[in-house]
Amino acid sequence: MAPLATGFDSGHSIESARRALAARLQSAGIEEPALDARLLVGAALRLDLTGIVTQAARQLTPEEAARLEAYAQRRLAHEPVARILGAREFWGLPFQLSEATLVPRPDTETVVELALEIFREATISGPRPRIADIGTGSGAILLALLHEIPDAFGVGTDLSLSALNTARSNAAALGLAGRSGFVACSYAAALRGPFDLIVSNPPYIPSGEIPKLSLDVREHDPHLALDGGNDGYDAYRALIPQAAERLAPGGALIVEAGQGQARDIETLMTAAALSVDRPPRADLAGIPRAVSARKMPS
Ligand code: GLN
Repeated sequence: MAPLATGFDSGHSIESARRALAARLQSAGIEEPALDARLLVGAALRLDLTGIVTQAARQLTPEEAARLEAYAQRRLAHEPVARILGAREFWGLPFQLSEATLVPRPDTETVVELALEIFREATISGPRPRIADIGTGSGAILLALLHEIPDAFGVGTDLSLSALNTARSNAAALGLAGRSGFVACSYAAALRGPFDLIVSNPPYIPSGEIPKLSLDVREHDPHLALDGGNDGYDAYRALIPQAAERLAPGGALIVEAGQGQARDIETLMTAAALSVDRPPRADLAGIPRAVSARKMPS
């Protein structure tokens, strides 16, 4: 039987299914149709890229075709691939996601890079550096840092218990459960410190702009992790003074900034008696993305 024009069946080879899916995604205006098609075919068939290439000519089984068609329908309805797979790579590490967690973005790796740069050049005191991640979500930033700094200990906070469960199970899967803890609270309210590094990717989208975000984001990322209030700065106004109180002398706060927000964030940091001693770090698109300040030893 010839493959149907839409929908997958066992008349498709892996290669023809991948191409047909890419074409369907493209005509629906999905941004990266070829990449998404490859990821979804890989997931539906439980194959990595090598498997997709080496088995390209084999026919789909009926189960594989049905699974792929279900994934295709979800992506065509603008559900992000990371949500369909329930997982996303960040900093080269695998992270499970849940409805309560933001999909970790490549932009956010800029925060990890800047935190590591500051950590490695500063004389952070003591043998066991302490890290806090405010609004940890899936745990991505905290766990990437713990992965890079082998003797560090870290705590992640979140308002969402569900996000904290996801972060905890990511920590366990990455072998980091023994060096991490997760606490439900508003920003850093339940933490005492002192911390050598405090990091955060807080919600920073002005409320009025949320309806203008892409469908993939506004319908699938938790608004608690996106909505920064009227002007987008509510979270920064709350967390920067809390972080300043909880930093060790010489410690640093590193936060993600939305587009165009870096300068005002630096102003808030300075107002909290932190010292902005370097320019923001740009993401791959050239947008100042990670903003930092240090607590000067008194
Ligand atoms: N970077 C995310 C976006 O643009 C927003 C994440 C956040 O508010 N921290 O969709």
